[in-house]
Amino acid sequence: MSALPYADLLETDGEKLLVALRAALEAKGIVTPQEVAERIRITDQGSPAQGARMVARAWTDPEYRALMLKDGTAAAEALGIVMRGAPPLGVLENTADLHHLVVCTLCSCYPRAVLGYPPFWFKSAAYRARAVRDPRGVIGEWGTVLPEHTRIVVVDSTADYRWMVLPVRPAGTEGWSEEQLAAIVREGDMIGVTVPGV
Ligand code: FE
Repeated sequence: MSALPYADLLETDGEKLLVALRAALEAKGIVTPQEVAERIRITDQGSPAQGARMVARAWTDPEYRALMLKDGTAAAEALGIVMRGAPPLGVLENTADLHHLVVCTLCSCYPRAVLGYPPFWFKSAAYRARAVRDPRGVIGEWGTVLPEHTRIVVVDSTADYRWMVLPVRPAGTEGWSEEQLAAIVREGDMIGVTVPGV
């Protein structure tokens, strides 16, 4: 490890492993430092604000909403979001009768291009187990109370397919601009632990 640049500044085993892996990939000509930098730049562009733009567009444009439900990746790309290298994106539409909650039961699979890095709790064993067992109880901990008649469906995000939720547009937002609408859509609304409100 002493041959690695700045090795003495690395603190955790994970950091040391990352630097060693990058050096090995670069030495073998599998990736260039520029490609790694480009990938990091693209990943860092991902944030809940990107998903919120999609939701706001879907709330105001029926054609876009139809595209988003049919092909989330194409809908993201239509708004200039870079989806290259990301698994396909599926979008789950919430209604008054049907509510979706997204979890990765295995690890932390998350649509990073449109929601950014997953929140810490999304990766926790507690959320991953309890979301499946007691979704109504789990979302209740966010203060989300749905009518008894609303069915809750838990959907597993995987390495091969990532999911986001298209929440119900709240009442009282009639006539709002896309920007105003996007501003009320939170990360949790697109995972399904919360619902947007005004
Ligand atoms: Fe995962």
